[in-house]
Amino acid sequence: MSDLESALRATFIVGHRLATTDQLTGVANRRFYAKHYPREISRAARYGHAVSVAMCDIDHFKRANDEYGHAAGDMILRECAQRMQQCLHRGSDWMARVGGDEFAVVFPETAIDRALDICRKMRDAVSSTPFVGDGMQVSLTASFGLASLWGAPKDAKRLAERLLSAADQALYQRKAAGRNGVTATKLQFGSDNSTQPA
Ligand code: GH3
Ligand code: MG
Repeated sequence: MSDLESALRATFIVGHRLATTDQLTGVANRRFYAKHYPREISRAARYGHAVSVAMCDIDHFKRANDEYGHAAGDMILRECAQRMQQCLHRGSDWMARVGGDEFAVVFPETAIDRALDICRKMRDAVSSTPFVGDGMQVSLTASFGLASLWGAPKDAKRLAERLLSAADQALYQRKAAGRNGVTATKLQFGSDNSTQPA
């Protein structure tokens, strides 16, 4: 009976891991992100703690994909995710692949300055070393949009959505301003409730 229980538990754990992991890169998948990101934001808001989220997108990834093929593109995505993951603090910060070449990074208990430092490290981790594979050597960069929350009023609504939208907007600005960098913004709760550049 106890062997059966152990086997069932192991099957459940493996099944859960498969359902929440991106098969290509091994980081969390969009499903995990959709469930856990709003929880992180609610928790931070409830206790008045800081939290930051970054959206990261590889620059001109389509070019590399077109030039070296889909399999090489897959290899680049895998290595990009690994390099970025290594910049994160185990057990607290986490990342998920949320689109083709797009990743979300969640920094619980983290205000803008430290999150910005980590995003810069992640950016360097992508750009500092070329991606080398079968007949391929390609240098790539990545752009980041970072948004941080701190001191939200207890009755603030749709915080997760607003923070994500601020990070998306920052990423869009970064792409427009020349890619390969981090644009950061704070979600402000003043009279106009707007986001301000960090
Ligand atoms: P930008 O700097 O504006 O982000 O340019 P980009 O070329 O990266 O932009 P875009 O988002 O149009 O390109 C993403 C590409 O990612 C398009 C698609 O062919 C490729 N892609 C999406 N999913 C996968 C995947 O799982 N594997 C591979 N190899 N490529 C993928
Ligand atoms: Mg891209």
